[in-house]
Amino acid sequence: MENYQSLIDEQKEFFNTNTTKDVAFRLEALDKLKTGIKQHEDALLAALKEDLNKSAFDAYSTEIGFTLQEISFIERRLRAWAKPKKVKKPITHIGTKSLIYPEPYGVSLIIAPWNYPFQLAVAPLLGAIAAGNCAIIKPSEFTPKTSQVLQNIIAELFPEKYIAVVQGGVETSQALLSSNVDYIFFTGSVPVGKIVMKAAAENLVPVTLELGGKSPCIVHEDANIKLAAKRIAWGKFTNAGQTCIAPDYLYVHKNVKEQLLTELRAVIKDFFGNNPLENENYTHIVNEQHFNRLSAYLTNGETIIGGNSNKEELSIEPTVLTTITWDDPIMKDEIFGPILPAMEYGELSEVITGISQHPNPLALYLFTENDQVEEKILENVSFGGGCINDTLYHLSTPYLPFGGVGTSGHGAYHGKSSFDTFSHQKSVMKQTNLFDMSLRYPNAKNGLKKIKKYLK
Ligand code: NAD
Repeated sequence: MENYQSLIDEQKEFFNTNTTKDVAFRLEALDKLKTGIKQHEDALLAALKEDLNKSAFDAYSTEIGFTLQEISFIERRLRAWAKPKKVKKPITHIGTKSLIYPEPYGVSLIIAPWNYPFQLAVAPLLGAIAAGNCAIIKPSEFTPKTSQVLQNIIAELFPEKYIAVVQGGVETSQALLSSNVDYIFFTGSVPVGKIVMKAAAENLVPVTLELGGKSPCIVHEDANIKLAAKRIAWGKFTNAGQTCIAPDYLYVHKNVKEQLLTELRAVIKDFFGNNPLENENYTHIVNEQHFNRLSAYLTNGETIIGGNSNKEELSIEPTVLTTITWDDPIMKDEIFGPILPAMEYGELSEVITGISQHPNPLALYLFTENDQVEEKILENVSFGGGCINDTLYHLSTPYLPFGGVGTSGHGAYHGKSSFDTFSHQKSVMKQTNLFDMSLRYPNAKNGLKKIKKYLK
């Protein structure tokens, strides 16, 4: 196994010079990164096309543009976030001042997956930089072209002692995990998340886990079906379903099932044409192993829309399956591909029970025009985040923390949350020497009686 301790030591040494704690230095780094990304936009678009057949529109909106917008958002607010925050005090602390100092952890390790190979490596990096950390990024081995462009950009802009990209697969990832870093930010699957958390526990390193899971999409009988179909098709088939928060499966009310399927068929045709497999803007499956895994699902239930695939191109049509139950293989694990199984329901309670008996979803989508239905789902189902009457869109506002709960992960990022995630909140109380509150001392007269007045 390779050893990355010397790289980590070099970063720790640089971190200890306090250079990265200077807010002006952090802002300059963010700005450099923004310029570098813009300069390498063509190379990035080409790499994403080669790795996943992402169209320029998809690659720009979900990877490059998303990242640039996050940088701009953080840049405008960083000075305010980085300042120590004065907080109130209780009556027992009269004379004191209390402050919270956001403090960088040191060397942060960012491990990224392949589905949005640029965005999911760089968006956490923005938090690491903003908070004043050094960083090592381990991008995915399954998208080698994008990982290479990312490495080129970072190497051109920053010295390794500050930010480094280390390419490699499982072994590299494990070698990095067993080194002594100060923070681990992992995005990937649930099984690997467990490995990461175990490794972090060895050195008691704090960790953010951005994992996956099966995200339900509920369509109630009172929903605006035409709009729901459009927003579901967009959320499910963007990136050929290889999105951690893609609607994994449909729970549709039996009274609107046929109408929803009709609208879905129409909108899929509108978005991807009569033959999506020949649409040059339709994203491919990342590799043969995932193609084979997904192809096996195509025999589940009844194929209502799509169902065709092209093994040579690693492409699978936008597909909708019906007559699906929790017992079908497709309902066992996160699908992570362009296949949408649909289950129907009559009562909302069936939906709540069904979802609650399975691991916590990363996202949940509910289509309804009824506030009570909305309240019932929000009160009764735990999930990372989600939308009412939309899909995916909650991820792209920097004002909402993005993350999972339970098995879909813990911790969050985007916008201010990225800064918070990579900062330790150092609480400091400054005491006055002008007077001394005597009642806390063991020799205070009537100490117990007095303390009972305050501590109740
Ligand atoms: P993955 O867990 O297989 O790999 C993620 C990273 O971990 C890669 O860099 C990989 O090299 C490394 N890795 C793989 N096996 C490892 C091991 N045994 N030990 C140490 N490191 C290892 O995930 P993936 O297939 O690249 O991505 C798909 C998964 O990621 C899906 O489950 C998806 O839901 C999830 N995901 C989550 C988010 C989110 O924001 N929550 C975003 C995208 C993807």
